[in-house]
Formats: sequence, structure tokens, C-alpha cells
Amino acid sequence: MLIIMKPNSTPQQIETVVNTAKVHGLTPHITHGVETTIIAAVGEFHTPTMDPFEALEGVESVKRISQPFKLGSRQVHPENSIFPIDGFTVGGDDIVIMAGPCSVESRSQILETAHAVREAGANALRGGVFKPRTSPYAFQGLGEEGLEYLAEAREQTGMPIVVEIMSQTQLDLMLKYVDVFQVGARNMQNFNLLRAIGETRKSVLLKRGLSATIEELLMSAEYILAGGNKQVLLCERGIRTFETATRNTTDINAIPVLKKLTHLPVILDPSHATGHADYVAAIARAAIAAGADGLIVEVHPDPAKAVSDGKQSLKPEKFAEMVKQVKAIAEIMGRCVAPINKSVTAGW
Ligand code: PEP
Ligand code: MN
Repeated sequence: MLIIMKPNSTPQQIETVVNTAKVHGLTPHITHGVETTIIAAVGEFHTPTMDPFEALEGVESVKRISQPFKLGSRQVHPENSIFPIDGFTVGGDDIVIMAGPCSVESRSQILETAHAVREAGANALRGGVFKPRTSPYAFQGLGEEGLEYLAEAREQTGMPIVVEIMSQTQLDLMLKYVDVFQVGARNMQNFNLLRAIGETRKSVLLKRGLSATIEELLMSAEYILAGGNKQVLLCERGIRTFETATRNTTDINAIPVLKKLTHLPVILDPSHATGHADYVAAIARAAIAAGADGLIVEVHPDPAKAVSDGKQSLKPEKFAEMVKQVKAIAEIMGRCVAPINKSVTAGW
């Protein structure tokens, strides 16, 4: 149920609506917009009419939220969600670029990559330390050692770090280090993990499952939002189709569709979406042209020697070229790439 308050409604009137929602077993979520306040009363509503709210003072109108995802819907929150991530904001006019290796492999590899991507214009550093590998015999990640290297890279470059969490058992450890949780495609419907992250107040990059629909992605985001964590970034990373020329198929459509359905920022991962370094820049450019709010890109100083996803990883020079192209497209779209954090300049 969506309760739209009159522009001059008082705090007491808003409180009465909130309490009425609670009496009916609904959870109220308040959005203070520029013009008006909207209260989303979410949950199973057993009263067949809207009477309990319509009769209240200060209420302009009451509507049903037509989408199954409630808190993520634009109906509930018409304006874009904009939130800060240590050094930049996401969801506004600025386009954010996150970059780094698929896996953290060693101290020197992550430090070298961090400095290179920052130099090229990246705003945040990515790197996996717990890897969801298809084979149990493949490299599984450096764990806490990798988090320590990432923390050192953050200290030297000023870039926040984006790291994949695979299980709730990693939560306490990860909370000590990471700035943005990444929930990978394979865990998009790990509902216990999503609920646990929803209880935190850290930003989360939620990747679309390999064969998940857009609605399923939004329902997964809802698990995090329902816990009170509003800092969710959605990530299109390609879906499985019959096509075998690329690792996945970029669902470019998902960008404008998501922008229409939800207020949450939309990020594109051209590395996993294509699986091949040769195609990454083209799809990165397409994503910005289609309205994405940012990119997450795999970069490795020596892709041929990478322990995971080397084929789709860009060399730093290629990444720098891609950033220049993305900046040009962003400008055409009336946007700009977020400036790099200049407050930290330590070398290594
Ligand atoms: C990754 O980012 O390295 C990764 C494993 O991505 P995805 O979950 O999209 O496959
Ligand atoms: Mn990867």
C-alpha cells in the first residue's frame, strides 16, 4: 500500500499513518520526497479496502503498489537513489567506474593494479578473495590475506574496495575490511545471505543471476532493502543464452528496463557479460549510452598469467583507453565520470 501525504502534512499526521500501518501488521517505510512524503506500507494486507488510510488526516491518496517488488520500485521512490561510497556518489549524474582483477593473487599484483586503474580514472577497486569457481579444484581465493592486501591498496590509492561475499559465515570478517559487498551471480538467490547483508549498512553490488529475470533480480534486491539497507546497486553481468561466441549475452535491454522500474543505480559488468577482453570496451560504451550509472571491469597487469578470468581481463593500457571512450559517451549523455579521489597520493 502506498500512502501519499498532502504537501503540507504534519509530522503527527505522518506518525498516525505509520502507526495505522503497524496496527494492520504492515511495515512502514517513509520516503521524504521534494514535494511530498510517501509511506510504503509493506506486507500482507488482509483488509479488502483502503479505508483505514484514506480516512486519515493529511492523506492525499492511497494506491496499491502494483509491482511485487515494493521498496525497490519507482512507485514508492520516484527519484533516483543517490548515495555516497567513500569518495564519490552513485546513482546521480556521475558515472562510477570500479576496476581491478578477478582475484587478488598477491600483494604486488593488487597494488600494481590498484595504482594503474586509479591512474586511468577508476573510482573503486574490485578484487575477489573468496571465489565462486565452477571447479572445486580451481583457485578459491586468498581469504583474509587478500583482504589485507586490498586494505593496503585502499590506503595507498584512496579507492574504496568492492569484494564478493559468498556466505554469511564470511560476514564478520568482511565487515572489518570491505566498503562495498559484491553478491555474485551464483548467490543472487541466496536469501539468507541477502537478509544478513540487509541488516548491515554497507553498500552492496547485487549481480544478476546467470538465468534470472529482471523481476527476480529486483525481488532479490528487495530482501536487502527490507532489512533497512538502502544502498543497493544492481549489476547486469550478462545472461546465459544459446549463443556460444561469447561467455554470456549482455542484456543491454535490462539497463533502460531497470531504470524505468527502479530507483536503484544500475551498473554493467562488460567483462563477465562478454568473457573476452576484445569486446569489453564496446559493451562498456554501449552500457553508458543505454543509461547505466557505472561499470565494473576486470583489469590485470598480465592477463595471460591471471589465475582466474584472464581472457576477459583488460591490460591497464586498454582499460585507460576504455575510460577515455566512456568519458566521451558520458558527455554526450549529459553526464560525467566521477573524478578520482585526489586526497591520497601515496606510491608503493
Ligand atoms: C566476479 O566478479 O569475478 C564474478 C565471479 O562475477 P559473477 O558473479 O558475475 O560471475
Ligand atoms: Mn571474474
